[in-house]
Amino acid sequence: MRIILFGPPGSGKGTQGNLLEKKYGFPKISMGDLLRSEVQDGTPLGKEAEAKMNRGELVSDDIVVKMIKNRIFKPECQKGYIMDGFPRDISQAQRLEEIDPASEEMAIEIYLSDQAALNRLGARRVCPDCDAIYNLINKPPKKDETCDVCEEKLMLRDDDKPGVIKDRLKIYHEQTEVLIEYYSRKKVYFRIDGEETVESVFQHISSLLDKELARSQEAEVTK
Ligand SMILES: [Zn+2]
Repeated sequence: MRIILFGPPGSGKGTQGNLLEKKYGFPKISMGDLLRSEVQDGTPLGKEAEAKMNRGELVSDDIVVKMIKNRIFKPECQKGYIMDGFPRDISQAQRLEEIDPASEEMAIEIYLSDQAALNRLGARRVCPDCDAIYNLINKPPKKDETCDVCEEKLMLRDDDKPGVIKDRLKIYHEQTEVLIEYYSRKKVYFRIDGEETVESVFQHISSLLDKELARSQEAEVTK
């Protein structure tokens, strides 16, 4: 099973991906992490990617797809894997299918309205000293905007300022709209309400996944 996770900034996509990995044992393949680790390990593909980045160029799809291919054919990915941050367009989606056509597919979007994303990220505060992250709405510090540990005044990160969030949301919508359409046509698109608590969102994703896994097993048996 190939699970493709989508979600705007603030949707908790990263957290949900980690929870899924833990519960089902499907490795989460985060595109950023994969790229970084190939570069760090100095693999031939990593070196190629690094050379591009040093020249200020984008790492080509060819390189990225090869990295993914190496990763998803490792034994631990045999039952399933979770894609985070890839594909970002239809051509990438198609290439993903080409390298692993046998795998069933689910595109899961953790849906959050723009307003909810703005509220959530705008309430995020970080300690400049120990990097602890708080949220004034659902994980407030004990004392008003002050770190529980080092008593430093908490800060709003530049990334979480309203103008920047709006830009990030715009990019997200532009990228994902076409993909949602694409996966809807393939009848593998599922939308989960991301406005609930982490636990409740995870429960919804889990029950959806359980259902699909059972269905796919049944199909396997009757083959
Ligand atoms: Zn602190």
